Amino acid sequence: MHRRLIAPGALAVSLLLTVPASAADYKPGAPGIGDPYYPAYGNGGYDVSHYDLRLKYQPVTDTLEGTATLLARTTQDLSRFNLDFLLDVSEVRVGGAKASFARSGEHELEITPQTPLAKGTPVTIVVRYRGVPSSKQAYGFTNWHRTPDGGVAANEPEAAWWWFPSNDHPLDKATYDVSVAVPDGTQAISNGTLQSTSSRAGWTRYNWRSAKPQATYLATLAVGRFDITTGRTESGIPVINAYSKDLGDTAGAARASVERTGEVTDWLTGYFGPYPYNALGGYVPNVTTGYALETQTRPFYSPRQFAGGSNVSVVVHELAHQWYGDLVSVAGWKDIWINEGFARYAQWLWSEHEGEGTAQELADHVYASHAADDPFWKVKPGDPGPEHQFDIAVYDRGALALQVLRNEIGDRAFFTILKGWPAKYAYGNATVGDFQAYAEQVSGRSLAGLFDTWLFRPSKPGAPAARGAGVASRSSGVTAPKSWTKITATNSVHGR
Ligand SMILES: [Zn+2]
Repeated sequence: MHRRLIAPGALAVSLLLTVPASAADYKPGAPGIGDPYYPAYGNGGYDVSHYDLRLKYQPVTDTLEGTATLLARTTQDLSRFNLDFLLDVSEVRVGGAKASFARSGEHELEITPQTPLAKGTPVTIVVRYRGVPSSKQAYGFTNWHRTPDGGVAANEPEAAWWWFPSNDHPLDKATYDVSVAVPDGTQAISNGTLQSTSSRAGWTRYNWRSAKPQATYLATLAVGRFDITTGRTESGIPVINAYSKDLGDTAGAARASVERTGEVTDWLTGYFGPYPYNALGGYVPNVTTGYALETQTRPFYSPRQFAGGSNVSVVVHELAHQWYGDLVSVAGWKDIWINEGFARYAQWLWSEHEGEGTAQELADHVYASHAADDPFWKVKPGDPGPEHQFDIAVYDRGALALQVLRNEIGDRAFFTILKGWPAKYAYGNATVGDFQAYAEQVSGRSLAGLFDTWLFRPSKPGAPAARGAGVASRSSGVTAPKSWTKITATNSVHGR
């Protein structure tokens, strides 16, 4: 029992006996970082700068065990603080001393250090744990995917709870060293560069490093039997891709798509600026889910993305996120348009590049193919609500809004913004409001009306608004561009 319910007077007396009087008003860190969409996600009172995960995973039993060492700094006077985590914890140390800990809520680990922590203190947190990730649920779901030969952690907006303790919100980015021992013949795939591997007594250890800040949901782990391919982009970024050995009929289509990673990344740099990381790739594990995810430097692709044949469009989508989502992350989950509107628009630019329909034609088609009473228009991409965070409208209406912006301010300003934004907020976070302000600054135009009409109203902009925005206003008869099928085949890119 680590949470004591005692009268305020008694609390003051007991603290006076154990810590300096100045510490009497040290308070618990909040159990959430303050995101209204997900009030319990992340935590308050500290900021993590680095995760060191030294793990061991046995595929036969789905057992993950190891030690997480977190380097953090307190942002308030703390009597205790939370991490988000589901596996079974055996010991926690804070600053070297054993700390007490308790469970609360759906995924909270409450840690009470022996001595309260003053604001601004660097602190090292060590968590020893073990567990069967597939046996753990929060809110009735699991984001740990069992495969025939291992397991995978990849989902949005949460995946870390099943494999490491964290401050699970994009606002708290950190660097990572992920070291995982797996039985010989099995591989452990994660983000970043493969620093080294070593083998001993039937186990092989893979040491991965992410040297640039990374949001917790963008950290990934996949254990299984993979075929690994390596290469380099034109600009020299090393590429490591991994494919489950048992992809069956989809193996060829998966490779024919993901092996385009280097080429697509080089192409995207023309729009978004230099690639921001020193590692690149993608992986296709044998999971039964259907989506893909922009896990940093190494996107996750479900085999189902390639069930209908090769699809480079989904690779374009996930790699576009490396700038729009990973390099510049949402400040809150309401800002999801910053991720998905732009990743979808990159697919439209790819369609244009491939001669399969221009972004304008795709925008016209989106506008024309949804009647005014279609629930599609009820979703506000600029603030969709947690239930509609990954609604197709955030993607398609979101990309339509970008075409409207392009028409309004012209190609020169528009593409200056596309390239300037990732540099302006590199390795940080930003809001939809920040984007509007930046677009107004670069274009020298007031864009409040445009953003309101196309991103924030729960209704279809009328024909006059469409005409004014350069969008074909016919309610029918706009033929789908050739790329439409491949683009819509990626519509399950997120979601659980
Ligand atoms: Zn996406």
